[in-house]
Amino acid sequence: MRRAPLSVERNELVHHVIVGAGPAGVTAAETIRELEPEAAITLVGDEPEAPYSRMAIPYLLIGKIGEEGTWLRKGPNHYERLGITLMPGRRMTGLDPVARRIGLEGGETLAYDRLLLALGARPLRPAIEGLDLPGVHTCWTLADARQIAAGAVPGSHVVLMGAGFVGTIVLEALALRQVSLTVVEMGDRMVPRMMDEVAGGMLKRWCEAKGVKVLTGTSIRRIAKALVPAAEARDSLVVELSDGSILPAHVVVVSAGVRSNTESVAASGIGLGNGILVDDHMRTSLPDVYAAGDVAQGRDFMSGEAHVHAIQITAAAHGRIAAYNMTGRDQAYHGSLNMNVLDTLGLITCSFGSWQGNGGDCARLVDQTGFRYLRLEFDGTGDVVIGAQAVGTTDHVGALRGLIQSKRRLGTAVKEQLMADPTRFMAGFVQTLHR
Ligand SMILES: Cc1cc2nc3c(=O)[nH]c(=O)nc-3n(C[C@H](O)[C@H](O)[C@H](O)COP(=O)(O)OP(=O)(O)OC[C@H]3O[C@@H](n4cnc5c(N)ncnc54)[C@H](O)[C@@H]3O)c2cc1C
Repeated sequence: MRRAPLSVERNELVHHVIVGAGPAGVTAAETIRELEPEAAITLVGDEPEAPYSRMAIPYLLIGKIGEEGTWLRKGPNHYERLGITLMPGRRMTGLDPVARRIGLEGGETLAYDRLLLALGARPLRPAIEGLDLPGVHTCWTLADARQIAAGAVPGSHVVLMGAGFVGTIVLEALALRQVSLTVVEMGDRMVPRMMDEVAGGMLKRWCEAKGVKVLTGTSIRRIAKALVPAAEARDSLVVELSDGSILPAHVVVVSAGVRSNTESVAASGIGLGNGILVDDHMRTSLPDVYAAGDVAQGRDFMSGEAHVHAIQITAAAHGRIAAYNMTGRDQAYHGSLNMNVLDTLGLITCSFGSWQGNGGDCARLVDQTGFRYLRLEFDGTGDVVIGAQAVGTTDHVGALRGLIQSKRRLGTAVKEQLMADPTRFMAGFVQTLHR
């Protein structure tokens, strides 16, 4: 990928335009302000609300917080105080890298010296009949959350399509709303892109024990309006499954994966893969144009390959690195660790790094009745832990992550200890610190 030259002198007054007011965009805007007190910063976002965190939506759905609780920054006039010009409800429609301008809906254009594309991702909507019916929602925005909250009242029938990472987070929020919940997952287990059969199976049994019906290896064939006389129409939708069975539903929530929002810049000639391709300085293929967060396909910490890691911690890290480089500071990114941690109705599940392994040595401990599982993956026959999965482990999850992030050689003796008893990973981690 071509590397754009860093032509900006420090303290030179430039206009930084950031499109996308999620965690990546907000972190970048604030970091630029820290680094360049005088620079002009404009933060454009197409959603009407104050910049908020999607991660907080489940807490909103269970009533732990109100909408203001989802806001990324809660201080009054936060953006104004920092001299960041916030433009909510404005959609970027195109990018002209030669004129160094973006187009906005309504025909207006905005000139930039440095541009950050922090456009996030959006939920996929599979081509299934009935997905556009009233009562069928994704769970991605505050607007979605309002609609789900209105329909998913205690005692109502709710069908959740998809038990991936975000789907399983939404599952918990729906279950806590005391609805009658059925989860339909086409994969052979829950969280199939996060955990193996043992862990996915445990999570399923746990959810079922908590009263959630979980159908794996099953897909939704179509959704239709319920054909019952109005007086009996307690359920407004019917959901037809791949095995021919029918579920009644007041609400269907679709959580079938996400896709990076690249459409608005696709015609600009920018390098695209699954997202906008960035180098280790968050630079795209266009001069002075950077990308960060769910829209960016950037360096993976373990493999060094380019991946989209659609998690908030990566978005914030990307935003910060981008800001340093947009202000002329040479800051390389070590890469994002594939990392997922869930707390589902009291059961903690997590996976880090290359959790599926690379065909090398593997240490496992399985306790099906106690809902505990630990799997460590080694790099081939070597002594470096490259990935892990854990169920029911609340202690030292940070150490598990640290062990993988350190990429340290453990030595034969420690490896043998872990092969015999992987729960001793904490001791292995500590030993790596003392070398
Ligand atoms: C229900 C839910 C729970 C989640 N829980 C977790 C969790 O527990 N842990 C975790 O790590 N992650 C979680 N995530 C994922 C996390 O929210 C995302 O990874 C994070 O929001 C990515 O930040 P971002 O800034 O890249 O994108 P976003 O937060 O999506 O922000 C991008 C913004 O850009 C806007 N935009 C897009 N195109 C344009 C355009 N053309 N013009 C103007 N604006 C545009 C979008 O509308 C959006 O407002 C969750 C997501 C959801 C939906």
